[in-house]
Amino acid sequence: MSEDPIHIPVFDGHNDILSRLMGEGRVGAEARFLNGQEGVHIDLPRARQGGLVGGLCAVYVPGTGKALDANGDLPRVDRQSALDHTIAQAALLRRIEAQSEGAFTVCTSVAEIRTAIEYGSFAAVFHIEGIEAAGPDLDLLHVLHAAGLRTLGPVWSRPNIFAHGAPFRFGHGPDIGPGLTEAGRDLIRLCNRLKIMIDLSHMNDAGFWDVAKISDAPLVASHSNAFAICSHSRNATDRQLDAIRETSGLIGLNFGVKFLHPEGKADAETDISMMVRHIDYLVERVGIDHVALGSDFDGTLISNRMGDVTGLPRLLGALQVAGYDNEALMKIAHGNWFSLLERTWS
Ligand code: ZN
Repeated sequence: MSEDPIHIPVFDGHNDILSRLMGEGRVGAEARFLNGQEGVHIDLPRARQGGLVGGLCAVYVPGTGKALDANGDLPRVDRQSALDHTIAQAALLRRIEAQSEGAFTVCTSVAEIRTAIEYGSFAAVFHIEGIEAAGPDLDLLHVLHAAGLRTLGPVWSRPNIFAHGAPFRFGHGPDIGPGLTEAGRDLIRLCNRLKIMIDLSHMNDAGFWDVAKISDAPLVASHSNAFAICSHSRNATDRQLDAIRETSGLIGLNFGVKFLHPEGKADAETDISMMVRHIDYLVERVGIDHVALGSDFDGTLISNRMGDVTGLPRLLGALQVAGYDNEALMKIAHGNWFSLLERTWS
């Protein structure tokens, strides 16, 4: 079925523009984003075209490139190298803002996000996935918070001193490895105190439930899908979805084909209807107020049917054809993220 594109502003829960830009080379990274470039999912001109008005911009520390260890885990990254990458990407976020002439704003509150969008400025939120840069004293977290950090995934899909990330496995649940360490529990308590959103997308099952026990904030998986449809270790199980619902949390749909496809195929021809199928399931399980988007743009293989950020109106059109009215589309596209961040940050 073909559908008319729907233009509704989208605020998205996860993009990897910072690590992607740094991976291409530090020099000129700001200009490549602001002026546009070929072959990527997001640059500023195309974000405008697709109606992407803002989102969580992730700092991601690249892996070591070494093989899996005896437990099947990705090797740990060392703290100094993590710190270098974290500072470099956080600085890039600010350099983009500084060179944007008002077209890109790093926001630390929902009021700032709304104002930026009103003025036509891309509303970016500073996010980190994997806090290998911090020591158990957590001093760095105070500094990063002062630098604008408002959301944090304690782990990426590998272990660190705080918790155990779920390694990428298809046909396997997230029940891989132990839960939070003592330092990890301190980290969760400090995030609560500083009102930094805790993102569980890369957390394994034991860690998820440890956070659920300790945290006083809504539970969030910013870029994950339904395990019941695609049994990938990165996706959320029904029990996890129920906990997200019970805490008035949120799950953001990941556009990555390997997290969508029922057979776990990284199939670039996966239809947009598969994204709709996950949204339908998530809405049924957690409710229309707790489902949003977490594209993973520039961080994973996305279907050619979506292409890049300019494909967002096609997804919204497909959702409309599937029966979502304007109010529901507004919630999924941006309203639910605003409401979740408001409740988490205030
Ligand atoms: Zn991720």
